[in-house]
Amino acid sequence: MKKTEEIINKIAQDKLDFHLGLHILLEEDYSFKELFNTLHNYIINSIPNKTDYNSEAYQRAINSIPLKPTFTPIIILKSFSTKIAFYKLASMPENEHKKIITSLLWIFKITDTERRNTECKNGCGHFWHELE
Ligand SMILES: [Zn+2]
Repeated sequence: MKKTEEIINKIAQDKLDFHLGLHILLEEDYSFKELFNTLHNYIINSIPNKTDYNSEAYQRAINSIPLKPTFTPIIILKSFSTKIAFYKLASMPENEHKKIITSLLWIFKITDTERRNTECKNGCGHFWHELE
């Protein structure tokens, strides 16, 4: 597992503070594309319905992102299906990148927690759910 993947999973599992972990991920030479792709895959894998955005955990996640709800990435996430929203987010200008990563990291924390509490509850074999 890459260092960034380990940080993301630790944040999702409450083994690393959200804001501290976000700060580490966004240090100087972070790659937006790499983080975006990783979080995109993680989110899609953690929600029951891959194309729609109506699952309860996903809705709860996008409605509780710790940023101003008037920021463009949040409006996009709330207005479009996951597929279209992620397509739009991927091509947004650099001044939106940190807001996008913050939003996606938060969404994954919520949707992964939901999955760990439901389908993973009695043992799942996801090696990244076995972090110390
Ligand atoms: Zn699992």
